[in-house]
Amino acid sequence: MKKNIKYIDCDGVILDTETGLFDEYNKLKQQDPTLKRLVYLQQLNWQYWIRQAKIIGNAIEILKQQNPDDVAILTKVHSLAEGLAKIEYFRELGVKNNVILVPNDIKKSSVVQATGNLLLDDSIKNLDDWALYGGIPMFFNQFGENKEIFKEQTTLNECYPLITSLETFFSKETDDYCKIMRLKR
Ligand SMILES: [Mg+2]
Repeated sequence: MKKNIKYIDCDGVILDTETGLFDEYNKLKQQDPTLKRLVYLQQLNWQYWIRQAKIIGNAIEILKQQNPDDVAILTKVHSLAEGLAKIEYFRELGVKNNVILVPNDIKKSSVVQATGNLLLDDSIKNLDDWALYGGIPMFFNQFGENKEIFKEQTTLNECYPLITSLETFFSKETDDYCKIMRLKR
């Protein structure tokens, strides 16, 4: 029988790397209006930034209780330095799961097989793509809000189950939901 993998997004699900991320960018952009968001993210000191980010809920401890063969971290990166910082950080904390880096300009489903596998993500765009390729998407929002705010735009989550903590994600309810979703195919 095929083994199903639970993929978990990093930014906004395990770590709150996004709060304050663009404060400095917005200041710099006032001085230099040509500064691109991507360039800013590529030049950011991720070794520092990842360590100042708050861990969401009890995400690291909950991850460490799971079998690393079943759960992988699937994270978009804007540079290899960002990827390196993330991998080093997780290893320092004793997280043994695979950390899969997805270059910012390609889809998560282009890097790993979505079919029959679960993705927990706070990006509706990522979840739509995951669903398109036969994966099982679940929407994360730690505040229990069915909406995503990205680049000052709000998108409502109208399609996917809402998950507010990794405790709920790693529950029998989630496993039962996945079984039903796989049977529907
Ligand atoms: Mg995210």
